[in-house]
Amino acid sequence: MKKEHEESRSGFHYWNLYQRCPRRWYIRYIMGLRAKTTPYPLIFGSAIHESIAGWWLGKNMVNVFLDYMSSHKDEYDSNTQLEDDTHRGVVLLENYMAHYTQDHYMYELLDLEVEVEAQLMDGTTITCRFDRVVRERTAHVTVIMETKTTGWSVSKALRALDNQDQATTYLLAARKAYDKKIDFIQPDILYQRQSKVQFARLSPVYRDKEELLRFEKNVIGVRREINQKVAALDGGYEPEMLFPRNGWDCSNLSCEYEPICRTNVTGKETGYVQKRDSTGSN
Ligand code: SF4
Repeated sequence: MKKEHEESRSGFHYWNLYQRCPRRWYIRYIMGLRAKTTPYPLIFGSAIHESIAGWWLGKNMVNVFLDYMSSHKDEYDSNTQLEDDTHRGVVLLENYMAHYTQDHYMYELLDLEVEVEAQLMDGTTITCRFDRVVRERTAHVTVIMETKTTGWSVSKALRALDNQDQATTYLLAARKAYDKKIDFIQPDILYQRQSKVQFARLSPVYRDKEELLRFEKNVIGVRREINQKVAALDGGYEPEMLFPRNGWDCSNLSCEYEPICRTNVTGKETGYVQKRDSTGSN
């Protein structure tokens, strides 16, 4: 099973965060700051993720969810929020089961939460963890099924997966290092906000050989840029010059560093803790 909230510096989120907002990347990976408490949406998303994975292993999805929430209840500082999330999760999963009960018959499960490490042409590596890899029994296509929960918007969640290149990263890693030939990524978006739930099994994401080659060069370039910036930081340049803010990212998704990113990137005397070393290289 996936370790909760685990991040790898060879993983997609490492360089993606830098591309989205260099300041946010700096605070997270150089200063190593995290909010003291895990944001509720992350706990909720992990609980849903575990529940669906458990279902593929023959467990009762709702029971897995309730067990997960119960074992993480101390991470909630609001009972009302805990009760709301628990209620919404049960509603979401019961609807999910009603929608996708055929999945067990339509697809053969090949791998669950499988981690792949692929070497790029410059000798560095990228790592990916696929939610599940399945084989469609009639069309005989092999698919990475990626499930996202969102309270934001179905179309934005898909755009994030597609345009921000998580899907491309998965296809690149699968092509290079996975022992099964993957035909496409199948995104499932689970939307929930207050009492509204919605499911979308969206169009598959394909990438051809040329797109993957160009993307690979892109990843190498971005990671080199990061390493150059870190070297410049070590050489005495100020972080504000090297890692500018990108306000577009905080308006797209809420950012845990909003209270400090303009004024106090050390995070001292605020609600943050240091959870990582300060090595910015990968
Ligand atoms: S609040 Fe916005 S500008 Fe500041 S670190 Fe977060 S995403 Fe970047």
